[in-house]
Amino acid sequence: MVDLLQTKIEFLKGVGPKRAELLNKELGIFTFQDLLEYFPFRYVDRSKIHKVNQIYDDTVYYQLVGTISNLKTHGEPRMTRISATFSDETGSIELVWFKGLKWIKNKFVPGKKYLLFGKANVFNNRFSFTHPDIEEYDPNDKVVGESLQGVYNTTEKLRNAGLGTKQIAKIIKTLVLQTWEMIPENLPTSLIMQDRLLSRKAAFYKIHLPLNSNDIHLATTRLKYEEHFFFQLKLLLNKKERTLNTRSVVFNHVGDYFNTFYNEHLPFPLTNAQKRVIKEIRSDLKTGFQMNRLLQGDVGSGKTIVALMVMLLALDNGFQAALMAPTEILANQHYETIKKMLGDMKVTVALLTGSTKQKERKTILPALENGDIQIIIGTHALIEDAVKFKSLGLCIVDEQHRFGVAQRARFWEKTEYPPHTLVMTATPIPRTLAMTQYGDLDVSKIDELPPGRKAVKTLHLYQEQRLTILSFMKKQIAEGRQIYIVYPLIKESEKMDLINLQEGYEALLRDFPEPEYRICVVHGQMSAEDKDFEMQRFVKNQAHIMVATTVIEVGVNVPNATVMIIENANRFGLSQLHQLRGRVGRGGEQSYCVLVTDHKITGEGKKRMETMVRTNDGFEIAEADLQLRGPGETQGTRQSGMIEMKIGDFMKDEPIIRHTRRMVGLLLDSDPTLSKPENYVTKEYFNKNFAAGFDWGRIG
Ligand code: ADP
Ligand code: MG
Repeated sequence: MVDLLQTKIEFLKGVGPKRAELLNKELGIFTFQDLLEYFPFRYVDRSKIHKVNQIYDDTVYYQLVGTISNLKTHGEPRMTRISATFSDETGSIELVWFKGLKWIKNKFVPGKKYLLFGKANVFNNRFSFTHPDIEEYDPNDKVVGESLQGVYNTTEKLRNAGLGTKQIAKIIKTLVLQTWEMIPENLPTSLIMQDRLLSRKAAFYKIHLPLNSNDIHLATTRLKYEEHFFFQLKLLLNKKERTLNTRSVVFNHVGDYFNTFYNEHLPFPLTNAQKRVIKEIRSDLKTGFQMNRLLQGDVGSGKTIVALMVMLLALDNGFQAALMAPTEILANQHYETIKKMLGDMKVTVALLTGSTKQKERKTILPALENGDIQIIIGTHALIEDAVKFKSLGLCIVDEQHRFGVAQRARFWEKTEYPPHTLVMTATPIPRTLAMTQYGDLDVSKIDELPPGRKAVKTLHLYQEQRLTILSFMKKQIAEGRQIYIVYPLIKESEKMDLINLQEGYEALLRDFPEPEYRICVVHGQMSAEDKDFEMQRFVKNQAHIMVATTVIEVGVNVPNATVMIIENANRFGLSQLHQLRGRVGRGGEQSYCVLVTDHKITGEGKKRMETMVRTNDGFEIAEADLQLRGPGETQGTRQSGMIEMKIGDFMKDEPIIRHTRRMVGLLLDSDPTLSKPENYVTKEYFNKNFAAGFDWGRIG
């Protein structure tokens, strides 16, 4: 059967080759199907015709009928603007065009009635319309008679070719009426019945040509449902394929390393959450298939010891383990912490970073290759080609958001079987992202902080309250505590920021003179060695104050530090602020986070400060962050890296995402390869649209 929906749009009435080409270029619309999936972004009540004297708002769309006169070009000789007067019996209003001027000039006939549609804007306290949709007024035009009409995005070029919002609505209407009955279903009937969904064809009809707002609601729900359903199907099938097919080494043995550590070296009792997570990981390691697990745990929740214990399991089964951190400071710190925790246990641990001396590298690399080194800790120096293992069985990647998936996968090339992989992140992942961006990973959560922690108190203060801040700092230092002061460092203005830091540092030296006080400095432009030296002074409590840029953001652990002062806090994002705050509150003492800003900050900046003061819950902060930043800055709420949604929205559709994920799970339980007749349409649609590279045979 010829697939009507794959017909090229140039064959649609009212389109033709020229417009088709523009639609291809401007909107990526090639076929009937593409155009059917070009959904309205809002609806207007077009049964109503307004009068010029009723215009009072620059946020709503107006529809007017009147004449156009007084066409003038401005800015000769380069003709940068055309204006005209639009009048009805109640008054007149200015129209303005900046583009497509040639076309406008010859378009309007004096005295003829036109239908105008658009949003008014305010300029010099007067309303006008810029680039409104205009067409000859036809009182018998059916589209005008319909109460709700879709408003479609268009572009300047399309508008000039006669494809404004309204004309697009018209051609889509033609298309829908001509094709809707042939739009095939793609969800199993049982699901449609159970969830009371519109049929697919009815949904397409109603989303473009609704009679009322209920139609819009039902159609939108059905189409979002379908998009999320297929995306979840893809994720879950990928996951299944991976777990069933990527063979990996088996760790079925709990031996001396793990037991000795557990019985003799554990520095504190594990929290229940830590125990649970270790159990979850252990069960993955026994299956013979590759573990791909994300370990989520807020800052300070104790991920390091989990990492160590899992690495000891690898050792118990005769394999090596690697732990990769995003910065040298953090790699060093992991190395120190782990050495200390292991104490006198006979485990060979080595550190490999960009600043490891050539001489040392020359002993480390062969020792890794012949298996003498059991645990290697480092930065991305670990994934260089020169680094070879005898039998790498496990790699742990700390602070995932700094590493891409591709980097993680490079470990997989270092052994015959890809090693088990554990990704640890302190960035709480909002539920929706966990189900989408990370939907093909297994997730473990440490949702409990070690006992005895006091919640960090957060204050938002202004620059002129500096004296208060200084005296507070002196008090804390007198009590034996240490303090971080962090300055923003943003790429574009690195120099300026460094000057800020330098000035701040010099001012501090005046307020906290040596030798009574000692201050250390760490910033991104220092050599790794210097950084580490300064860092160590702070770690060893040889400095009271550490002035730093965000290099300390990730992972640093100094339990005696109780104050985190963040300068120009409004210039940090929420998740960064949360990470920074996580550097304090790691010991038994009450800790504080002070956010310092000017009075003049943006509304959004203010919201970030309020959020930080209100809550310590990383999860809530991550959600607020997503809300505040919205699309654009994040990856966009319609994209997941794998797919771009047409109507679904990863941020807004959480209930639908959760539900469809569950439904897909149940479906695959009952029919893993979608071979039952009632699932045929679903499988066919999936194969056509999502199955590039997917092999059903492998999961059968
Ligand atoms: P993160 O999850 O941020 O990497 P860390 O592993 O650095 O956290 O742990 C934070 C601090 O909490 C460290 O000082 C660590 O020794 C301590 N800690 C971890 N687990 C426990 C526990 N079960 N009981 C008490 N302290 C713990
Ligand atoms: Mg950590």
